[in-house]
Amino acid sequence: MPSESALRIVWIYPDLLSTYGDQGNVLVLEQRARRRGASVETVHVRSSDPVPDSGDIYLIGGGEDRPQILAAERLRRDGGLHRAVARGAALFAVCAGYQIMGTTFGGEEGQPVEGVGLLDIASGRGTHRAVGELVAEVDPALGAVPTLTGFENHMGVTRLGQGVRPLSRTVVGTGNGDGTEGCYAGKIVGTYLHGPALARNPALADLLLFWATGTPPTPIDDTWYERLRQERLAAVLPSA
Ligand code: GLN
Repeated sequence: MPSESALRIVWIYPDLLSTYGDQGNVLVLEQRARRRGASVETVHVRSSDPVPDSGDIYLIGGGEDRPQILAAERLRRDGGLHRAVARGAALFAVCAGYQIMGTTFGGEEGQPVEGVGLLDIASGRGTHRAVGELVAEVDPALGAVPTLTGFENHMGVTRLGQGVRPLSRTVVGTGNGDGTEGCYAGKIVGTYLHGPALARNPALADLLLFWATGTPPTPIDDTWYERLRQERLAAVLPSA
């Protein structure tokens, strides 16, 4: 039984969606919460199991087209994630996981597939595969989140509707395909960034912890994260 005071993290469908180290997002979130003295309980929910609606932070990763379609169908049918978001849980969705949060996304042949409808976005198939390092500047309305660094590998392009705001503006890379990368609405963040995203951008992990707990996370020693960030940024921005 989960204890009342623990931070509850839910990792959705690792059997279908978890490419390019996305599971590292769960580890980073757990570690950053524990380093602040919180107790953490993580549930890995396979696609054959119901998604509990009692979590505080939900994470979902990227994947190939076929498992992405399956994941969207199962999440729609299950309803647990919808109930969790309705009660104010935070959600971090990466690449395929990001696309399926929208109204539609492109299937294996580019055919429109129904998403789960938690974000006002629509994705389709682009003209080429976007592969490589991505750098982007975060919407200042989210507070002091430094330049995003990550890795992208997707065919999809994403159009943002009125109900969401761009997470960031791309400096290097493709992201949504229109000069923006990812989006946010309420306590949901979607992004194309792998890497894993929260290891390369721990400030995003802290944003999720803040949303989940209502308390600004205390500063911690981020020397190693910072070294990784600088190495990655220098690899694509010669002046960094
Ligand atoms: N299948 C999706 C696309 O190519 C998502 C890929 C991914 O998650 N890396 O757009």
